[in-house]
Amino acid sequence: MQKYDLAIVGSGIGGALIGALNKDKKHILFEKDSNLGGCASTFKRYGNYYNTGATTFVGYEDNHIIKDIFDKMGYSPDIEESKVAIRTIQNKKVVDRVRDFEHFLSQMQEYYPNKNNRIFWEKIKNIDERFWQVKNIHFAKYSLKSYIKSLLTFKDMIRTFEMDLFKSADSFIKETLGDISQEYKNFIDAQLLITVQSRSKDVSLLSMALGLSYPFHKVFYVNNGMGTIIEDILKDVNVHKNEEIFKIKRKEDYYLIDSSKGEYQAKNIVLNTTIYDSKNLFDEKIKSYYEKFEFSDQSAFTLYLSIDSKKEFLEHYQIILKDEIPNCISNSFFISFSKLSDDKLSQNGYSVTISTHTKVSTWKLLSKDRYKKQKELTENFILGHFLDYFDSINKEQITKTFSATSATFQRFIGRQNCGGKAINIKSILKTPTCTTPFKGLYNVGDTIFAGQGWPGVALGASILNKELNEEF
Ligand SMILES: Cc1cc2nc3c(=O)[nH]c(=O)nc-3n(C[C@H](O)[C@H](O)[C@H](O)COP(=O)(O)OP(=O)(O)OC[C@H]3O[C@@H](n4cnc5c(N)ncnc54)[C@H](O)[C@@H]3O)c2cc1C
Repeated sequence: MQKYDLAIVGSGIGGALIGALNKDKKHILFEKDSNLGGCASTFKRYGNYYNTGATTFVGYEDNHIIKDIFDKMGYSPDIEESKVAIRTIQNKKVVDRVRDFEHFLSQMQEYYPNKNNRIFWEKIKNIDERFWQVKNIHFAKYSLKSYIKSLLTFKDMIRTFEMDLFKSADSFIKETLGDISQEYKNFIDAQLLITVQSRSKDVSLLSMALGLSYPFHKVFYVNNGMGTIIEDILKDVNVHKNEEIFKIKRKEDYYLIDSSKGEYQAKNIVLNTTIYDSKNLFDEKIKSYYEKFEFSDQSAFTLYLSIDSKKEFLEHYQIILKDEIPNCISNSFFISFSKLSDDKLSQNGYSVTISTHTKVSTWKLLSKDRYKKQKELTENFILGHFLDYFDSINKEQITKTFSATSATFQRFIGRQNCGGKAINIKSILKTPTCTTPFKGLYNVGDTIFAGQGWPGVALGASILNKELNEEF
């Protein structure tokens, strides 16, 4: 039986970063799918390539976690900065999220006027800037050293943010902007749904600031698809693709791993499975540890299009509608176009990924027939509104259309839930961390601290890497 010091289950952003940072160890990384990257993968269907979920790449700038990690690896990704991070359209009100603060603010004043817009948005930007200046953020449990490091982080956070750390997003909105219109609220909430997977009523001021500020950072387009970054960083990693882990048993001083292709031993295991799915890998004690984490029912509905057009589009748009999308929990959808200059993604016209939010329970118990009908209903609704807004595209130019629900995500990457839970001062102690009560067993990914997207998962991976390096 092959023996390893480190086994990683999953090649999502978290698993891939840990693999790349530890390739000098005796390691192995298992990925059940044929594509690497999970939600951040790129797949081929009907002869065309599509980004599965993640399309925007943020955090590759000085003093930022992703650049720090990639510099350490000696890797520079093939990326291009987007001039407009996202164009948000609501009732013909068009706001381009650009890095130039004054330009952004003048659009806000035109479409969402408020005498305190400057105060509000300056504070949001300032909180985000200060957060990324806090060094050595640590959050882990189950050992004295981890608790001490976490307490020191908490102390730094209080010193940096003072009472703002304890404020809710809603109270800050009220105290600065007053009673804002439903449209303004929708504008804020639509952005928060794609970044922190929650609306302003459920998050802290800090989470809102981080969620609303991503377009003030450099936002990049990844040439040849998001999955290329994952494939690149895993180049020298011992990756076993198309190999699913079924069971893991804890032995005296190692773990016994049972996969679709064989058995392995490893002293340390990093799970890139979600905190809700990890329970399925274990029996008894470890299973009951994972069972304590209450399932988050949130997931994604994604629509993939190929469009035969030579007209120029921005890379990202967000359309906010009056009504909720059928079978979804949002009234907005996010659209990402490939660049025409991208030889891989745009080889047969534009490759488009559209995403919105849904619930796992909406799709779970449907009969095959009803599932198909409901999926078509959602698909056609989004497509209809997409064509309304992009009147330079006609239906005949759309050469391929297909979609994915939480059930599709389950089939390909073993997760129904997509997106973490909102972190606030009340929920922080219940938030899972990279360490577990079991020696040698660790977690990484968007359902554990610090949350989802490239910056959130990378922050979690860097904390885990510090913990791991104390082990080796
Ligand atoms: C629709 C959508 C749009 C998004 N857009 C963006 C965006 O634009 N920018 C951004 O930064 N973030 C975005 N995100 C969030 C981001 O994609 C995720 O937070 C991130 O990719 C999750 O990474 P992860 O490490 O949790 O791994 P996951 O993506 O969950 O990957 C886990 C991997 O583990 C594998 N696996 C699971 N079980 C097993 C097993 N038993 N054996 C072997 N392998 C297994 C899976 O196949 C998968 O490859 C988006 C997410 C979604 C769903």
